[in-house]
Amino acid sequence: MVSNNLATLNPSIDVQTAATTPWDIVVVGAGPAGTAAAARAATKQLRVLFIDRSPLPRPKVCGCCLSPLALAELADLSTSTAPQFRVSTLSLTGLTIVSQGHRASVPYATGGVLSRISLDTCLAKNAIAANASWLPDTRGVSCTVDHETVTLTVQTSSQSEHTIQTKRLLLAAGLHNALRIHGNTDSHRPPRNRPPNNRIGLGTTLPSTGGPISERHLVMAVGSGGYCGFVRLEDGSIDVAAAVHPSILQQSATPADALARLLTDTFQDVECPIDPSLLSHSSLRATPQLTHYTGHVDSQSTRILRLGDAVGYVEPFTGEGIGWALLSARLATEALIDSRGNLRPSQEASQQYQQTYRNALNQHHRRCRMVSLALRSPFLVSTAVRAAGRFPTIAGSIARTITGNS
Ligand SMILES: Cc1cc2nc3c(=O)[nH]c(=O)nc-3n(C[C@H](O)[C@H](O)[C@H](O)COP(=O)(O)OP(=O)(O)OC[C@H]3O[C@@H](n4cnc5c(N)ncnc54)[C@H](O)[C@@H]3O)c2cc1C
Repeated sequence: MVSNNLATLNPSIDVQTAATTPWDIVVVGAGPAGTAAAARAATKQLRVLFIDRSPLPRPKVCGCCLSPLALAELADLSTSTAPQFRVSTLSLTGLTIVSQGHRASVPYATGGVLSRISLDTCLAKNAIAANASWLPDTRGVSCTVDHETVTLTVQTSSQSEHTIQTKRLLLAAGLHNALRIHGNTDSHRPPRNRPPNNRIGLGTTLPSTGGPISERHLVMAVGSGGYCGFVRLEDGSIDVAAAVHPSILQQSATPADALARLLTDTFQDVECPIDPSLLSHSSLRATPQLTHYTGHVDSQSTRILRLGDAVGYVEPFTGEGIGWALLSARLATEALIDSRGNLRPSQEASQQYQQTYRNALNQHHRRCRMVSLALRSPFLVSTAVRAAGRFPTIAGSIARTITGNS
């Protein structure tokens, strides 16, 4: 087994130097979208800085499954940035879905598993190796745009404020509506369209002794208030990631109680793959509301593009967000930088990015919205699980709907 106890990734620049350097591209957020974009842009010899409010490694609420798209994008990143860049993942060999005391095995040998501690740190190391400058513990607070530059105000962990100037700003800060943007006329936080009935994410990691989960096997528990996935990570620990309706949190004393109730309700007489009592001793982390649409390009300036979850996100049941984030990073950098390594005019780049993003991702988002709607009907889910438990062809068609493989 590989350990995911990685050493802290030291900054490669200090904030004072970052504040006096004229940057071509600054990236806010060092998740898969931000780190992949930083690596790709730095490989083109541009001056690139990427910052994160947290240090790396850091834990993250995530199911840690890598879709076929994510694996393909990681392979492409290696070819395009550094052939020695390799992310080794565990291959998934099966999926079990449980609902209302029924269980079905679904053929699902199309993806990989890797902890976010390992994945995000590995991606950030690749960006640094490509010559991008890395500034952790630094939060983007706001920015001002004029005709030539974007001025980003950042705050360090010791609360000191600095301004950083860049030609293009890439917002890859995930589900957090991170920055206040000051344009010529006003100051705003970009509006986020969120549907009613939105869920939030909860997650934690349990010790390897936390339950009888087989390696390379994903277990998804679907209940009326949400769903929860379990998978064993590369160091043997168990990743727990859930999407729950806020009402089940309001009805419970703690988030751990809410999750334990969801599991009891879902598994009933089927053996639960973890000991639910362990949840109350673990540090559960939560996310903002999951489903939203904010937009690829900021309304104040075509110099500010969004990547990954910052553009928009649909619930995580199908486990595709990392692939979408990596793909958006490639599409954004292809739009921003021409074949000679120069920045394209921002209007042209932003139009190309919006178009290629829509062509590549809208159909995936539509399928995920359909799946997340179906998951809100306990009757539909338990009928499908019972049928899949008896008829392999139905199990196969559920797998195809989840993965999008026809
Ligand atoms: C419960 C759950 C399960 C999931 N399971 C899966 C799965 O199995 N497979 C899959 O592919 N996807 C899954 N996802 C989705 C996946 O986690 C995201 O789509 C993916 O992390 C998006 O990457 P990103 O780079 O856009 O954002 P993130 O990974 O969220 O990274 C954003 C970064 O920005 C930083 N940041 C935020 N605000 C600021 C600021 N103001 N200044 C500086 N830094 C900032 C954060 O610290 C963070 O490091 C799941 C999500 C949830 C909630």
